Amino acid sequence: MNDAGVDAVVVGGGHNGLVAAAYLARAGLSVLVLERRAEVGGAAVSFRAFDSVDVRLSRYSYLVSLLPREIADDLGLRVRLRRRRISSYTPVGSGGILADDPASLGADADAWQRFYAMTGSVAERVFPTLTEPLPTKDQLRERVGDDRAWHALFEEPLSEVIESTFTDDTIRGIVLTDALIGTFAPADDPLLRQNRCFLYHVIGNGTGDWDVPVGGMGAVTAELARAAQEAGARIVTGAEVTAIDPGGEVTYRVGDEERTVAGGHVLANVAPRTLAALLGETPDAQPEGAQLKVNMVLRRLPRLKDSTVDPRDAFSGTFHVNESYRQLATAYREADGGRIPTLPPCEIYCHSLTDPSILGPSAQAADMHTLTLFGLHMPARLFRDDNEKAREEALRATLRSLDSVLGESIEDCVLPGCVEAKTPVDLENELGLPAGHIFHQDLSWPYGEEGTWGVETGHDRVLLCGAGAQRGGGVSGIPGHNAAMAVLRSR
Ligand SMILES: Cc1cc2nc3c(=O)[nH]c(=O)nc-3n(C[C@H](O)[C@H](O)[C@H](O)COP(=O)(O)OP(=O)(O)OC[C@H]3O[C@@H](n4cnc5c(N)ncnc54)[C@H](O)[C@@H]3O)c2cc1C
Repeated sequence: MNDAGVDAVVVGGGHNGLVAAAYLARAGLSVLVLERRAEVGGAAVSFRAFDSVDVRLSRYSYLVSLLPREIADDLGLRVRLRRRRISSYTPVGSGGILADDPASLGADADAWQRFYAMTGSVAERVFPTLTEPLPTKDQLRERVGDDRAWHALFEEPLSEVIESTFTDDTIRGIVLTDALIGTFAPADDPLLRQNRCFLYHVIGNGTGDWDVPVGGMGAVTAELARAAQEAGARIVTGAEVTAIDPGGEVTYRVGDEERTVAGGHVLANVAPRTLAALLGETPDAQPEGAQLKVNMVLRRLPRLKDSTVDPRDAFSGTFHVNESYRQLATAYREADGGRIPTLPPCEIYCHSLTDPSILGPSAQAADMHTLTLFGLHMPARLFRDDNEKAREEALRATLRSLDSVLGESIEDCVLPGCVEAKTPVDLENELGLPAGHIFHQDLSWPYGEEGTWGVETGHDRVLLCGAGAQRGGGVSGIPGHNAAMAVLRSR
């Protein structure tokens, strides 16, 4: 069956596809969004993950930093972001480090201030460029205007600046974690994948703050879907795209029915590798996701070994678990060698402390809490042979790792049956993320060919509008915005 042609077909209704659809529809274009799953949002969704409890968890992504205020304002989004009271807490022996408290940073306190003043200044200069046409490398370097910062962040492995700036192994690790979220690389990776990841983790909205979306990630997606639909975009869920013709024809399946629609432009919210397959082309090398996401509901917050810190403070920020610089290096080596790390590094935080609205009335009355855990260095290769078995093993090792820094076992605090773990293979199966890569592929530098938007493909009518575009990755809406701008400026 052939549908009437439209100005733009958006393939995938992830948050970026919805941003693109909203901009294009507001500009008066006819837009059709085709989403394979039963609901829109991709990795930016909330779910009632456990039947027995009335709690809506941000099942995959959970914090927002990179969504520019400009996009929220342009689209009239009623999204509320709430700052966490504590940025991070790291247990060390029977004490711990509160990153917000200079006294707990010891001899590295001044270095910490200087280092993050440097990243803050880079953030203020780089972030506004992400929603403009790409600058060249030289233009961006000039905009940064600080050769030492440029060298440290853009030219040499991050290990160099971390090792020359900080002395404490735990503090070095805290800094490095921003380079490893969703990125499987060592600190001294010559390809600088860790640097690119770090950059996007410290520049969001010119500050690098990571905030809690009130109502969970699903609330962000719901607002984007509302904005797109109110502007006139049509969203069809349960619609799996099976082929894209470079001329603009898109073939998709709804139930047993195959349909085609002609688009003036096709905006691909899917990963570049998936787009290549839909175009009948040979995909580039396989990316590899490397994290274990664990969601839990707790009967109560666990006790800490550190009696000087209130668990409500410690768990409201990012709580680092066995993420010292050396521990991260060991875990990388083990995982790269094909083993689940002995002491998996991970970070946790309690969403419900900052935003209790994700708890239903009965969960609130019972003082339940959510716990989100993001485990590093768990590459897809570890789960390929037997995902079920490896998931169990990875979860057990991760909970052991967590227990090693708590004052009691986490299992004593979890509501029975309320733990779910997502491996990279699960993310591939559920969301179509190639090998579970949370950014669709490794992140790219925010510079390139002058005048392009970083969304172009080899075909004039086909653009990327998802995380795999240049300057994509994370809940940002930036590639969605940039693809829409590329279409509108070409008309
Ligand atoms: C576990 C996890 C934790 C994360 N944590 C954070 C975080 O806290 N903060 C943050 O900023 N980022 C985080 N991220 C990354 C962030 O969620 C993603 O980079 C971002 O959501 C990507 O958005 P997108 O719209 O580009 O793509 P996606 O969310 O991947 O959406 C693509 C959409 O395309 C659909 N699709 C795929 N194939 C087809 C097809 N053939 N036909 C039709 N539709 C199709 C998919 O179903 C999906 O809905 C996390 C990701 C994961 C997985």
